[in-house]
Amino acid sequence: MFLEIKDLHVKYGNVEALHGINLHVNEGEIVSVLGANGAGKSTTLMSISGLVKASGGSIVFDGMELSKMPAHKIVAAGVAQVPEGRRVFGTLTVHENLKLGSFTNRDLAHIKQTEEWIYQLFPVLAQRRSQLAGTLSGGEQQMLAIGRALMAKPRILLLDEPSLGLAPILVKAIFKTLQEINQSGLTVVLVEQNARAALRLAHRGYVLEVGRVVLEDSAENLLANP
Ligand code: ADP
Ligand code: ADP
Repeated sequence: MFLEIKDLHVKYGNVEALHGINLHVNEGEIVSVLGANGAGKSTTLMSISGLVKASGGSIVFDGMELSKMPAHKIVAAGVAQVPEGRRVFGTLTVHENLKLGSFTNRDLAHIKQTEEWIYQLFPVLAQRRSQLAGTLSGGEQQMLAIGRALMAKPRILLLDEPSLGLAPILVKAIFKTLQEINQSGLTVVLVEQNARAALRLAHRGYVLEVGRVVLEDSAENLLANP
């Protein structure tokens, strides 16, 4: 199994946000994690990327136990997260934002090549490479946030509500690019409140409700039975 989460518990203080989640992701899949506000979707993603720590259970990625690893080692292991709210550095250029996403120990030619790959994926970023990120539209900032995560050349990409607050046409464009990236071999976990849009892209989905998985099925079945 590429990513396997078993009986994951996460607490914030005394309050348990995840009550024993089981979830797996096969290599090459797009899996969406759905559910209402507060269901535990972000907590699930952040525990994979090490931003919150599990109080119990295990998260195994490609044979490595992530739940006890520091976040920077998890990034180095090939896990990248695009956090909620398109966080970009507004006073840095598009190019500088992308550079921040790469590992400093990579050679410059490799970093440059990865940056050019991102400009191919998001041509609008190529046109704006010298522009300050703060001057980009919301959709462009979301593309930049995804691009920055891709600079680390991850093997699995975790996205937290990338469609939030974006016009449907932009959501369509971004999801189409995610599909292309997936087809080139990247595994994707997509957290969304926008279930229909996410399921049109995903292979499988999980539905969370107050910290528990209540449904797991193919995207096709989940779309047919809302
Ligand atoms: P979702 O992403 O599905 O909206 P979250 O994972 O953000 O859900 O939240 C799950 C639960 O954990 C909610 O009850 C939320 O209020 C709580 N929670 C999230 N973050 C914190 C935090 N930093 N401190 C305390 N409680 C939190
Ligand atoms: P590697 O890390 O395997 O050495 P490179 O960085 O040399 O890969 O990338 C090879 C080519 O593929 C480059 O043109 C690069 O822009 C592009 N590329 C990089 N990562 C990906 C990816 N995940 N999917 C598709 N193309 C990619």
